[in-house]
Amino acid sequence: MTTTVKTEQSNNHYWHSCKPLLWLIALGAMALTPTLYAAELPTSTPVPGGVAVIALKLSGAPTPQVRYRQRQVMVRAGKKGWYAVVGIPLSAKTGSHKLQVSQGEVRYPISFSVRAKSYEEQHITIKDKRKVNPNKLDMTRITRERKQIRAAFRAWSKPLDTEQSHSLNFELPVSGRLSSPFGLRRFFNEQARKPHSGLDIAAAKGTPIRAPAAGRVVETGHFFFNGNSVFIDHGHGLITMYCHMDSIGVKVGQELAPGESIGTIGNTGRATGPHLHWSVSLNDARVDPALFLSRQQRNQLSNSLNTKTN
Ligand SMILES: [Zn+2]
Repeated sequence: MTTTVKTEQSNNHYWHSCKPLLWLIALGAMALTPTLYAAELPTSTPVPGGVAVIALKLSGAPTPQVRYRQRQVMVRAGKKGWYAVVGIPLSAKTGSHKLQVSQGEVRYPISFSVRAKSYEEQHITIKDKRKVNPNKLDMTRITRERKQIRAAFRAWSKPLDTEQSHSLNFELPVSGRLSSPFGLRRFFNEQARKPHSGLDIAAAKGTPIRAPAAGRVVETGHFFFNGNSVFIDHGHGLITMYCHMDSIGVKVGQELAPGESIGTIGNTGRATGPHLHWSVSLNDARVDPALFLSRQQRNQLSNSLNTKTN
Protein backbone atom coordinates (compact mmCIF):
# COMPACT_ATOMS: atom_id res chain seq x y z
CA MET A 1 0.00 0.00 0.00
CA THR A 2 2.97 2.30 0.46
CA THR A 3 3.86 4.37 -2.59
CA THR A 4 7.28 3.32 -3.88
CA VAL A 5 9.48 5.38 -6.14
CA LYS A 6 12.13 3.84 -8.40
CA THR A 7 15.51 4.54 -6.83
CA GLU A 8 18.04 2.44 -8.77
CA GLN A 9 21.10 4.17 -10.17
CA SER A 10 20.98 5.35 -13.75
CA ASN A 11 23.54 7.05 -15.95
CA ASN A 12 20.80 8.86 -17.76
CA HIS A 13 21.13 12.54 -16.88
CA TYR A 14 17.45 13.20 -17.65
CA TRP A 15 16.33 10.54 -15.16
CA HIS A 16 18.51 12.08 -12.42
CA SER A 17 17.11 15.55 -12.96
CA CYS A 18 13.58 14.14 -12.83
CA LYS A 19 14.00 12.33 -9.51
CA PRO A 20 13.10 15.24 -7.18
CA LEU A 21 10.07 15.95 -9.34
CA LEU A 22 8.94 12.32 -9.14
CA TRP A 23 9.26 12.45 -5.36
CA LEU A 24 7.12 15.57 -5.29
CA ILE A 25 4.48 13.91 -7.46
CA ALA A 26 4.51 10.85 -5.21
CA LEU A 27 4.18 12.96 -2.05
CA GLY A 28 1.39 14.99 -3.64
CA ALA A 29 -0.49 11.82 -4.56
CA MET A 30 -0.19 10.60 -0.96
CA ALA A 31 -1.55 13.90 0.35
CA LEU A 32 -4.51 13.80 -2.03
CA THR A 33 -5.34 10.16 -1.42
CA PRO A 34 -5.93 9.69 2.31
CA THR A 35 -6.37 5.93 2.01
CA LEU A 36 -2.75 5.65 0.91
CA TYR A 37 -1.47 6.58 4.36
CA ALA A 38 0.09 3.53 5.90
CA ALA A 39 -1.70 4.02 9.22
CA GLU A 40 -0.16 3.09 12.53
CA LEU A 41 -2.52 0.37 13.53
CA PRO A 42 -3.36 -0.50 17.15
CA THR A 43 -1.97 -3.77 18.49
CA SER A 44 -4.45 -6.54 17.72
CA THR A 45 -6.27 -7.63 20.91
CA PRO A 46 -9.09 -9.97 19.83
CA VAL A 47 -10.89 -10.14 23.20
CA PRO A 48 -14.28 -8.81 24.37
CA GLY A 49 -13.75 -5.03 24.63
CA GLY A 50 -10.64 -5.24 22.42
CA VAL A 51 -9.73 -4.33 18.85
CA ALA A 52 -8.91 -7.04 16.27
CA VAL A 53 -6.61 -5.95 13.44
CA ILE A 54 -7.14 -8.40 10.59
CA ALA A 55 -5.19 -8.59 7.33
CA LEU A 56 -7.63 -8.79 4.41
CA LYS A 57 -4.96 -10.13 2.00
CA LEU A 58 -6.11 -7.54 -0.54
CA SER A 59 -4.38 -4.50 -1.97
CA GLY A 60 -5.14 -1.82 -4.54
CA ALA A 61 -8.32 0.11 -5.26
CA PRO A 62 -11.12 0.30 -4.41
CA THR A 63 -10.87 0.30 -0.61
CA PRO A 64 -12.52 -2.94 0.57
CA GLN A 65 -15.80 -2.73 2.47
CA VAL A 66 -16.05 -4.81 5.64
CA ARG A 67 -19.05 -5.56 7.86
CA TYR A 68 -19.16 -7.11 11.33
CA ARG A 69 -22.40 -7.74 13.24
CA GLN A 70 -24.30 -5.71 10.59
CA ARG A 71 -22.08 -2.67 11.04
CA GLN A 72 -19.53 -1.13 8.71
CA VAL A 73 -15.95 -1.58 9.91
CA MET A 74 -12.89 0.69 9.62
CA VAL A 75 -10.44 -0.39 6.90
CA ARG A 76 -6.88 0.92 6.92
CA ALA A 77 -3.83 0.61 4.70
CA GLY A 78 -0.92 -1.14 6.35
CA LYS A 79 2.41 -2.71 5.46
CA LYS A 80 0.86 -5.75 3.74
CA GLY A 81 -2.22 -4.27 2.08
CA TRP A 82 -5.62 -3.58 3.64
CA TYR A 83 -6.53 -4.32 7.24
CA ALA A 84 -9.90 -4.35 9.03
CA VAL A 85 -9.76 -2.61 12.42
CA VAL A 86 -12.64 -4.23 14.30
CA GLY A 87 -14.15 -3.19 17.64
CA ILE A 88 -15.33 -6.20 19.67
CA PRO A 89 -18.14 -5.53 22.18
CA LEU A 90 -17.74 -6.55 25.83
CA SER A 91 -20.77 -8.81 25.35
CA ALA A 92 -19.06 -10.83 22.56
CA LYS A 93 -18.80 -14.59 23.07
CA THR A 94 -15.41 -16.26 22.77
CA GLY A 95 -14.79 -18.41 19.67
CA SER A 96 -15.13 -17.86 15.95
CA HIS A 97 -16.45 -14.53 14.60
CA LYS A 98 -17.09 -13.58 10.99
CA LEU A 99 -16.37 -10.52 8.83
CA GLN A 100 -18.04 -9.97 5.44
CA VAL A 101 -15.46 -8.53 3.04
CA SER A 102 -16.04 -7.09 -0.41
CA GLN A 103 -13.83 -5.32 -2.93
CA GLY A 104 -15.61 -4.47 -6.18
CA GLU A 105 -17.16 -7.75 -7.38
CA VAL A 106 -15.14 -9.92 -5.01
CA ARG A 107 -17.00 -10.98 -1.86
CA TYR A 108 -15.89 -13.41 0.81
CA PRO A 109 -16.11 -14.04 4.56
CA ILE A 110 -13.11 -14.04 6.92
CA SER A 111 -13.21 -15.77 10.30
CA PHE A 112 -11.25 -14.68 13.33
CA SER A 113 -11.07 -15.91 16.87
CA VAL A 114 -12.13 -13.97 19.96
CA ARG A 115 -10.33 -15.24 23.05
CA ALA A 116 -11.47 -14.92 26.66
CA LYS A 117 -10.55 -12.05 28.94
CA SER A 118 -11.67 -11.84 32.55
CA TYR A 119 -12.41 -8.44 34.01
CA GLU A 120 -12.53 -7.75 37.73
CA GLU A 121 -15.62 -6.92 39.78
CA GLN A 122 -16.28 -3.46 41.16
CA HIS A 123 -18.78 -2.60 43.91
CA ILE A 124 -19.94 1.00 44.13
CA THR A 125 -22.28 2.71 46.60
CA ILE A 126 -24.44 5.48 45.14
CA LYS A 127 -26.22 7.76 47.64
CA ASP A 128 -28.83 9.01 45.15
CA LYS A 129 -30.95 5.81 44.96
CA ARG A 130 -32.85 7.16 41.92
CA LYS A 131 -29.59 6.89 39.96
CA VAL A 132 -29.61 3.12 40.66
CA ASN A 133 -33.36 2.43 40.55
CA PRO A 134 -34.84 5.23 38.40
CA ASN A 135 -38.57 6.02 38.69
CA LYS A 136 -41.08 5.76 35.84
CA LEU A 137 -40.55 9.32 34.64
CA ASP A 138 -36.76 8.85 34.75
CA MET A 139 -37.16 5.67 32.67
CA THR A 140 -38.97 7.60 29.91
CA ARG A 141 -36.08 10.04 29.82
CA ILE A 142 -33.46 7.23 29.92
CA THR A 143 -35.12 5.42 26.97
CA ARG A 144 -35.13 8.64 24.93
CA GLU A 145 -31.49 9.33 25.78
CA ARG A 146 -30.41 5.77 24.92
CA LYS A 147 -31.64 6.34 21.34
CA GLN A 148 -29.74 9.63 21.15
CA ILE A 149 -26.55 7.97 22.46
CA ARG A 150 -26.93 5.00 20.09
CA ALA A 151 -27.30 7.35 17.10
CA ALA A 152 -24.12 9.23 18.11
CA PHE A 153 -22.13 5.98 18.41
CA ARG A 154 -23.41 4.84 14.98
CA ALA A 155 -22.19 7.94 13.12
CA TRP A 156 -20.15 7.08 10.04
CA SER A 157 -18.12 9.77 8.30
CA LYS A 158 -14.90 10.37 6.45
CA PRO A 159 -12.11 11.56 8.75
CA LEU A 160 -11.37 15.28 8.55
CA ASP A 161 -9.02 15.82 5.65
CA THR A 162 -5.79 16.40 7.53
CA GLU A 163 -2.90 14.05 8.13
CA GLN A 164 -3.42 14.06 11.91
CA SER A 165 -7.03 12.98 11.60
CA HIS A 166 -5.89 9.68 10.13
CA SER A 167 -3.95 8.82 13.25
CA LEU A 168 -5.31 6.12 15.52
CA ASN A 169 -2.97 7.22 18.28
CA PHE A 170 -4.77 9.20 20.95
CA GLU A 171 -3.38 11.60 23.52
CA LEU A 172 -4.87 11.34 27.01
CA PRO A 173 -7.85 13.78 27.18
CA VAL A 174 -6.96 14.78 30.74
CA SER A 175 -4.08 14.10 33.09
CA GLY A 176 -5.18 12.60 36.36
CA ARG A 177 -5.46 9.36 38.29
CA LEU A 178 -7.05 6.25 36.72
CA SER A 179 -9.88 5.75 39.19
CA SER A 180 -11.65 2.93 37.35
CA PRO A 181 -10.33 0.88 34.42
CA PHE A 182 -12.33 -0.36 31.43
CA GLY A 183 -14.41 -3.56 31.52
CA LEU A 184 -15.03 -3.94 35.28
CA ARG A 185 -18.11 -6.04 36.10
CA ARG A 186 -20.15 -3.55 38.06
CA PHE A 187 -22.47 -3.67 41.03
CA PHE A 188 -24.24 -0.46 42.11
CA ASN A 189 -25.57 -0.73 45.69
CA GLU A 190 -24.95 -4.51 45.28
CA GLN A 191 -27.13 -4.75 42.15
CA ALA A 192 -25.48 -6.13 38.99
CA ARG A 193 -25.34 -3.59 36.15
CA LYS A 194 -23.69 -3.40 32.72
CA PRO A 195 -19.86 -3.64 32.71
CA HIS A 196 -17.81 -0.44 32.74
CA SER A 197 -17.68 0.52 29.06
CA GLY A 198 -15.04 3.25 29.40
CA LEU A 199 -12.30 4.29 31.76
CA ASP A 200 -12.47 6.87 34.53
CA ILE A 201 -9.83 9.51 35.18
CA ALA A 202 -10.19 11.46 38.43
CA ALA A 203 -9.05 15.11 38.37
CA ALA A 204 -10.05 18.35 40.09
CA LYS A 205 -13.36 19.93 39.08
CA GLY A 206 -12.75 22.53 36.35
CA THR A 207 -9.68 20.78 34.83
CA PRO A 208 -9.86 21.13 31.01
CA ILE A 209 -10.66 18.04 28.92
CA ARG A 210 -8.94 17.94 25.53
CA ALA A 211 -9.76 16.24 22.23
CA PRO A 212 -7.41 13.19 22.01
CA ALA A 213 -7.27 13.49 18.19
CA ALA A 214 -8.89 15.52 15.42
CA GLY A 215 -12.63 15.09 14.96
CA ARG A 216 -16.05 16.65 14.74
CA VAL A 217 -18.54 17.09 17.61
CA VAL A 218 -21.60 14.95 16.79
CA GLU A 219 -23.62 15.27 20.01
CA THR A 220 -23.68 17.15 23.30
CA GLY A 221 -26.23 17.18 26.09
CA HIS A 222 -27.15 16.54 29.70
CA PHE A 223 -27.97 12.88 30.26
CA PHE A 224 -29.55 11.11 33.28
CA PHE A 225 -26.62 8.75 34.02
CA ASN A 226 -23.79 10.37 32.04
CA GLY A 227 -24.41 14.00 33.03
CA ASN A 228 -23.01 16.68 30.71
CA SER A 229 -21.52 14.80 27.77
CA VAL A 230 -19.73 15.38 24.46
CA PHE A 231 -19.36 12.91 21.56
CA ILE A 232 -16.55 13.34 19.01
CA ASP A 233 -16.60 11.57 15.63
CA HIS A 234 -13.04 10.80 14.45
CA GLY A 235 -14.23 9.17 11.21
CA HIS A 236 -14.80 5.61 9.96
CA GLY A 237 -16.89 4.58 12.96
CA LEU A 238 -14.42 5.74 15.64
CA ILE A 239 -16.36 7.83 18.20
CA THR A 240 -15.25 9.03 21.64
CA MET A 241 -17.55 10.05 24.51
CA TYR A 242 -16.80 12.32 27.52
CA CYS A 243 -19.17 12.24 30.52
CA HIS A 244 -19.89 13.86 33.93
CA MET A 245 -18.48 17.18 32.67
CA ASP A 246 -18.92 20.37 34.69
CA SER A 247 -19.12 22.56 31.59
CA ILE A 248 -19.37 21.85 27.87
CA GLY A 249 -17.29 24.18 25.69
CA VAL A 250 -18.18 22.94 22.19
CA LYS A 251 -21.17 22.80 19.84
CA VAL A 252 -22.48 20.07 17.52
CA GLY A 253 -20.75 20.31 14.12
CA GLN A 254 -17.63 21.98 15.52
CA GLU A 255 -14.36 20.67 14.10
CA LEU A 256 -11.62 20.01 16.64
CA ALA A 257 -7.86 19.90 16.36
CA PRO A 258 -5.98 17.43 18.59
CA GLY A 259 -5.58 18.91 22.09
CA GLU A 260 -8.39 21.45 21.74
CA SER A 261 -10.41 21.94 24.94
CA ILE A 262 -13.97 20.56 24.85
CA GLY A 263 -15.03 21.45 28.43
CA THR A 264 -14.13 20.72 32.03
CA ILE A 265 -14.09 17.91 34.60
CA GLY A 266 -17.15 17.66 36.85
CA ASN A 267 -19.41 15.19 38.67
CA THR A 268 -22.74 15.61 36.87
CA GLY A 269 -24.97 12.51 36.40
CA ARG A 270 -24.22 9.26 38.25
CA ALA A 271 -20.81 10.01 39.75
CA THR A 272 -19.29 9.65 43.21
CA GLY A 273 -16.79 12.49 42.66
CA PRO A 274 -15.27 14.69 39.93
CA HIS A 275 -13.89 12.51 37.13
CA LEU A 276 -14.00 11.99 33.39
CA HIS A 277 -15.68 8.88 32.06
CA TRP A 278 -14.05 8.33 28.66
CA SER A 279 -15.49 5.83 26.18
CA VAL A 280 -14.08 4.83 22.81
CA SER A 281 -16.42 3.19 20.32
CA LEU A 282 -15.44 1.42 17.11
CA ASN A 283 -18.16 0.08 14.77
CA ASP A 284 -20.62 0.70 17.63
CA ALA A 285 -18.64 -1.51 20.06
CA ARG A 286 -17.27 0.10 23.21
CA VAL A 287 -13.59 -0.84 23.43
CA ASP A 288 -10.74 -0.19 25.88
CA PRO A 289 -9.58 3.43 25.32
CA ALA A 290 -6.09 2.48 26.58
CA LEU A 291 -5.56 0.51 23.33
CA PHE A 292 -5.30 3.83 21.46
CA LEU A 293 -2.68 5.36 23.79
CA SER A 294 1.08 5.12 23.46
CA ARG A 295 2.72 2.43 25.59
CA GLN A 296 4.21 5.17 27.77
CA GLN A 297 0.83 6.83 28.44
CA ARG A 298 -0.79 3.45 29.03
CA ASN A 299 1.83 2.53 31.65
CA GLN A 300 1.60 5.94 33.28
CA LEU A 301 -2.17 5.58 33.54
CA SER A 302 -2.17 2.03 34.93
CA ASN A 303 0.56 2.97 37.45
CA SER A 304 -1.72 5.75 38.73
CA LEU A 305 -4.53 3.27 39.53
CA ASN A 306 -3.57 2.72 43.15
CA THR A 307 -2.07 6.10 43.98
CA LYS A 308 -4.16 8.62 45.86
CA THR A 309 -2.69 11.91 44.73
CA ASN A 310 -5.97 13.78 44.31
ZN1 LIG B 1 -16.90 5.47 34.05
